[in-house]
Order: sequence, then C-alpha cells, then structure tokens
Amino acid sequence: MDKSIIIVGAGIAGLSAGCYARMNGYSTTIFEMHDIPGGLCTGWKRHGYTIDGCIHWLVGSRPGTGLRQVWEEIGALHGQPIVDHEEFVRIEGPDGRTLVIYTDIDRFEQHLLELSPRDRKPIAELTRAVRKMAHFHMPTERAPELHSFGDRMRALPALRVLPLFVKYGKTTLKQFAERFSDPFLREALGSFYNLDGFPFIALAATLGWMNTRNAGYPIGGSLEFAKSVARRYADLGGEVRYGERVAQIIVERDRAVGVRLGSGEECRGDWVISAADGHATIDQMLGGQYIDDELRAVHARLKPFDPLVHIAVGVARDLSAEPHNVVRQLKDPVMVAGRSQQQLGIRHFCYDRTLAPEGKSVITGMLRSDYDYWKALGAGTEQYLEEKQTILNWFIDRLDERFSGIRDSIEMTDVATPLTFERYTGNWRGSFEGWQITTDSMTMRMKKTLPGLGGFFMIGQWVNPGGGLPPAAVDGKFVIQILCAADGKAFRASTPSIMTQAT
Ligand SMILES: Cc1cc2nc3c(=O)[nH]c(=O)nc-3n(C[C@H](O)[C@H](O)[C@H](O)COP(=O)(O)OP(=O)(O)OC[C@H]3O[C@@H](n4cnc5c(N)ncnc54)[C@H](O)[C@@H]3O)c2cc1C
Repeated sequence: MDKSIIIVGAGIAGLSAGCYARMNGYSTTIFEMHDIPGGLCTGWKRHGYTIDGCIHWLVGSRPGTGLRQVWEEIGALHGQPIVDHEEFVRIEGPDGRTLVIYTDIDRFEQHLLELSPRDRKPIAELTRAVRKMAHFHMPTERAPELHSFGDRMRALPALRVLPLFVKYGKTTLKQFAERFSDPFLREALGSFYNLDGFPFIALAATLGWMNTRNAGYPIGGSLEFAKSVARRYADLGGEVRYGERVAQIIVERDRAVGVRLGSGEECRGDWVISAADGHATIDQMLGGQYIDDELRAVHARLKPFDPLVHIAVGVARDLSAEPHNVVRQLKDPVMVAGRSQQQLGIRHFCYDRTLAPEGKSVITGMLRSDYDYWKALGAGTEQYLEEKQTILNWFIDRLDERFSGIRDSIEMTDVATPLTFERYTGNWRGSFEGWQITTDSMTMRMKKTLPGLGGFFMIGQWVNPGGGLPPAAVDGKFVIQILCAADGKAFRASTPSIMTQAT
C-alpha cells in the first residue's frame, strides 16, 4: 500500500511537496487553514481591481534553468507570458536627481558613469560582480542531505562565483555603497533596499538574474500562480482540506504520526511535513518539546523580516507610460506606521493588464512597520482603523505629489497591516518572508528536521534564511527526495503533459 504524507500548509512549499509526493506514489493530504492556496503568494480582489500581494520578480523564469524546470514540474509556469522589466527600480532623490537601476547591465553601467564619472572604480566593481553572479544558480537537482561524491563534482561549476563570495561575503550593500564618492549615489544605492545588513552580493545576484532575463514576472500574478500549482497537485490526485487549522502534531514514541485539527479531528500518516510558520510548528503544534540549545542558538542569530504595511489604491488612470517601480527618498524622515520612514516605494502593475480594468491601474506601497505597534492598537479596534486611515491619507498625499491630481481618480483603497499578514498566513510577527537575509544568515544552512523527532520535516521560508518562492518550491522537491531515499524508492519527477507538448 502507498505510504501517506500529511502536509501542514498549502503555501508554495506545501503545494510543491504535495506535487512531488504524488509524482512518487505517496498518498497525501494538505491541511490549509485559509480557504485558498498560496499562503503569502497571494492576491485579492477589491471593486474590480486585483491587488497582487507577492511576486515582484520570480527567479527561475528563464527557460532552460534548473529552477525553471521545478516551476514547470509543479505547474507554476505553464506557458503564460513573462514580463522582463527594463528597469528594476528608479530611485528619486529629494533634490531632483534620479538613479535608474536598469536590468540591462551595460545600460546601467553607462547610466552610472554619466551620473558620476569619477566613480569609475566602484562602478566597474559593481557591474563585474553583477555579470559574474548571473552564473550563480541555487541547487535544484538533489537535496544536499543526499549529496554523493558525484553530486559534489557536478556542483563544481558553481565554484566560478566562489571568489566573489570570498571577496564580498561579509560586505553589506550599505558598506559597498560607501565606495562611491557621489553623495546621491552613495545614499541611493546604500539604502534603497531598506534592510539592515543586506548583503551586497545578494543585490549583485538579483541584478545578474535580471540581466539574463531569469527573474521576470508571470502574467496573471501571484494568486493565479499559486492556484496553478494547486491545480497541478489536484491533477496528480492530491487532496487539500481548506479551512482546516492544524492545532497539534501528534507524536508517539518521538515519532510524528499525524495531526490534530482545530475541530479535534485526528488524521494519521506515515510522515508529517510542516510547511507552515516555524515558530507555530515548534512552539505550538509540537508544544516546544523538540528544540535544543543548538537550534535555540540558530534562532537567536536570526531576525525575522520586519513586517509590512501594504497599501493599495485603484485609480481610473492609465499609468503604463510611467516607471513601474519608484523609490522616493523623503526630504526628512517621518514617523508613519510606527516607524521612522526615510523613503517610500511606489509600484504600479500596468504591465499586467489582468489586474485592473481597461485604462485603470493598481498602485501599491509597502512600508516597513512594527508588529508590537499594531498589536498594542489591537486588530479591528477604533484606533487600529484610524491608524490605517492615517497611513492611507499620507500615502495618497505622497502619490499626489508624484502623479499630480491622482487623488481625484481613486476608486479603490486597501490597507493590510502586520496583523493582516499574521491572520491570513499564520506567519510569526507578521513577517513577510521569514528570516531576514544578512551577510551572516546568507550562507546558513538550516536543518529540515527537529532534534529527537522522527517521521517529521519542516520546509519553506522558516528553514531558508532570506525566504522567497524559489527555496519554498525547491524544498518541496528535496524533502520528497529524502523521503524516497528513506523508503528505498527511486525519486521521479514529471512535467504536466501540456508543458511537455509545448516544449
Ligand atoms: C509583499 C510580498 C512580496 C514578496 N515578493 C516576493 C518576490 O517578488 N519573489 C519571491 O520569490 N518571493 C517574494 N515574497 C516572499 C514569498 O511570498 C514567501 O517567501 C513564500 O511565499 C513563502 O512560502 P511558504 O510556503 O514557505 O510559506 P507561506 O506562504 O507562509 O505558507 C504557509 C501556509 O501554511 C498555512 N498555515 C499556517 N499555519 C497553519 C496551521 N496551523 N494549519 C494549517 N495551515 C497553516 C498558511 O495559511 C499558509 O498558507 C514576497 C512576500 C510578500 C508578502
């Protein structure tokens, strides 16, 4: 008889594990507390507009890469058009200067030289790193836990970028930007990511992938992307039980044997995989029984991404001629959403006509915020609603400065707070991408198992510092490879027949 797997969470990690499990003959049930798939990879409709809540760029969008194959195998990319932007972001300084980070690295280099010819040296260093990092690909073939000597040999080409890791591994983006003598470039490059400790090399990799058209945007957006993976899982014969919160992982003799749902129902399986929030898994579902000093020390070194306030407005105006992603540096820092804000990112989605009615646009802004600030206000209280309105008004004022008169075209508004993220996805302190990527966490490898607990694995953004969709999807593949090895089966993967015909 087929062995069975219980999966907690139908985010991209859980769905991916479900797909690969079905490809390998396991019977599977995914329990998802929400009533739709996707977790953080989501979107929501308001008054005819679709607010996209996730994919800005998808690494692995380029055909022929290992990651692209994973996206195809789990049905996420199935031939829908991919948009590769000409600009990654446009940073507008308070004094009228603008830095455009073009995705074409030659054009970006030229632009930087025009802005500051005297910074020839750091410009050359930056663009060299970008060109080299384009060749860096996250491993997708085989779980590192199963690596043989042959696998390690096959991974040797990745050593091409090793000197870059040695040279810049401990350099933050801010530190690298200090090499520029032009004050605007120094400030613009150093702070547009707005993340403490963000590694320079991570920016170089992102730009490298964009330069090689390997980090595009799939038309249809995040919810369609997630639904498409859920369809693939269903086509493979998998079951998702929506609206079912897992309250507890049942353990017998130090082996996970099933789950207890919020309703009290018990479901049993041969293996249990949690693709849900890490803290909830360890502290609540497992009652804090399977954590040791080593894991506590790992968690103490890591910091979750600050949660976001996500603001969206729908406007009866076509913004397609405007840059799609602008970071506006503010003249003076201002307290908004419980934090001092020095810049505001404004993004429109006109490159995806499926998200707004003809001639109209969705605009979003994301502000770093503070979980405790919102917790103290209390979800749904008068103060909480007032604070949302204050932030919205501030955002609309800033929008109106950038797009004169736009406030009169607004037809839809929406504000999601850290408590919204927590309520819909269960993520700890409303974090939007798990553990923050820093020069310290970037190379950390976290285990998918917990000390002393058999029959159990954890996957997704809480065991992959930096988070993101690619590690979530690849984790789903790797964990099933590990289970196949444990069960003495050869691992198999397949592409949906419609993809096979198309390629
Ligand atoms: C605004 C924003 C922009 C982003 N942009 C990008 C981007 O451009 N590119 C990129 O690669 N990544 C991006 N990300 C990050 C990416 O969305 C996440 O890292 C990724 O989706 C995490 O997937 P996951 O499956 O690990 O976790 P999650 O998506 O958190 O999935 C966990 C699932 O488990 C469910 N769950 C939790 N607890 C329980 C329980 N007790 N019982 C049952 N179900 C439970 C949740 O409801 C959820 O569906 C972005 C995220 C946000 C919010």
